[in-house]
Amino acid sequence: MSSSRGDHFSASTLEPLPVIIIGNGPSGICLSYLLSGHIPYVRPDAVHPHPLLQRKLAEAPGVSILDQDLDYLSEGLEGRCQSPVALLFDALLRPDTDFGGNLESVLTWRQEKQRAIPHVVLGRNLPGGAWHSMEGSMVTLSQGQWMGLPDLQVKDWLQKKRRGLRNSRATAGDIARYYRDYVVKKGLSRNFISGAVVTNVQWGAPEPSGSGAQGPSPLFQVSGFLTAKDQSRQPFSLWTHNLVLATGTFDSPARLGIPGEALPFVHHDLSALEAATRQGVVTPASDPVLIVGAGLSAADAVLFARHYNIPVVHAFRRPVDDPGLVFNQLPKMLYPEYHKVHQMMREQSFLSPSPYQGYRSLPEHRALLFKEDSQAVFQDAQGGQQVLGVSLVLVLIGSHPDLSFLPGAGADLAMDPEQPLSAKRNPIDVDPFTYQSTRQEGLYAVGPLAGDNFVRFVQGGALAVASSLLRKETRKPP
Ligand SMILES: Cc1cc2nc3c(=O)[nH]c(=O)nc-3n(C[C@H](O)[C@H](O)[C@H](O)COP(=O)(O)OP(=O)(O)OC[C@H]3O[C@@H](n4cnc5c(N)ncnc54)[C@H](O)[C@@H]3O)c2cc1C
Repeated sequence: MSSSRGDHFSASTLEPLPVIIIGNGPSGICLSYLLSGHIPYVRPDAVHPHPLLQRKLAEAPGVSILDQDLDYLSEGLEGRCQSPVALLFDALLRPDTDFGGNLESVLTWRQEKQRAIPHVVLGRNLPGGAWHSMEGSMVTLSQGQWMGLPDLQVKDWLQKKRRGLRNSRATAGDIARYYRDYVVKKGLSRNFISGAVVTNVQWGAPEPSGSGAQGPSPLFQVSGFLTAKDQSRQPFSLWTHNLVLATGTFDSPARLGIPGEALPFVHHDLSALEAATRQGVVTPASDPVLIVGAGLSAADAVLFARHYNIPVVHAFRRPVDDPGLVFNQLPKMLYPEYHKVHQMMREQSFLSPSPYQGYRSLPEHRALLFKEDSQAVFQDAQGGQQVLGVSLVLVLIGSHPDLSFLPGAGADLAMDPEQPLSAKRNPIDVDPFTYQSTRQEGLYAVGPLAGDNFVRFVQGGALAVASSLLRKETRKPP
């Protein structure tokens, strides 16, 4: 096992744990913080700028947010997210941030150890989730302050590390370190098991004794393996009454589904370009790197290649001015580097002369085939075909949740079980105020799996789960 082992963990035990969280990204970390007995209260002197919310908060002074009616508190809040609890928690943590303000959180945190719920957080990598898989110098899309977790502001953490924000944004490397540090600073390390990969989850008939709020509690068996420093694998099997899926959507990159996609020079992860650059496999003198996709990950890859003067051919299916392209939705002032890529995409089409040396864009081109002799075949909008010699291919067209460890790969849990699970279009169907699956008692989902796509908003899901689990605890017979 690579870094830490949870105190509640022994590789195989028959004694069920109250809670297991699969996934150690911002969602899992935030939930672990709450379940460790960190309880949020409204500061007695705080006045929330939202008048309706302020009135409601004033109705229950001294009652923790976790013990209040989240449905009632969040009613009427609006913002850049569909989840009412995500909007509520965000409004409490960052009261006026959408109006450009910088008001301090209205919350104060008390540690009430008697309310802690024992749990383990299983994660493939170090605490921080997807942020450890990103290129460290990449700058966050969100403002740096929106990447923070409760009670530790990113700007304060950066200041202590003698680091700063870049144009109000942070680097992915700093954010990954912040999450790892958060776990240590908040005393959560004992709950985290890094290097633990869950490969199978089963649940069967409910336990007759019953500890759940809505009748007998189910029992989940969670199995997988721990990776040791020498890369050997040790199997584990654990039982739990409540299972939280916090596995994000970064692990399973989307594929084109075309012949040759499994050839060794075709990759689905920016880190392959980093490695090839480091090893000198691609250089400014190589054939171009082909980058397929028109999202921000593809743009990051273009920026990376440009930084190292590596020639790039950039192919994507949509027209450059398609309003659905993410570049057409980002304010220019805040994201100058992405607008630069967009400008290159527009001005550098294959047919026009080249103001940007070493970069060519192929708008409205569909990759058809990769050949063993490192050639890529495309079809353009008119149906014509083109063949290009490339040194490496990066297919960066998004990613899917990977719930292959669940029965039926979790398909039954989606809003529309007939369609593939998707963070944006078809997330796991959860109750909006508990984040418990509408199909399976004791099973919860948070983060992009439940449709919350930004770190700022995944924390509301954690609040809802913690509130639900605390209620279950108080309803348990003595
Ligand atoms: C390129 C990119 C840029 C982004 N930029 C921003 C941004 O600027 N601002 C923002 O707010 N959000 C951004 N996001 C979204 C952000 O990453 C997610 O919202 C956030 O990380 C979700 O947190 P999470 O904890 O739910 O999941 P994740 O961070 O994805 O963490 C889940 C973890 O679970 C692990 N896991 C999965 N399956 C298993 C298993 N079977 N066993 C054990 N562990 C498992 C994964 O390896 C992963 O480490 C970006 C995402 C990407 C991909």
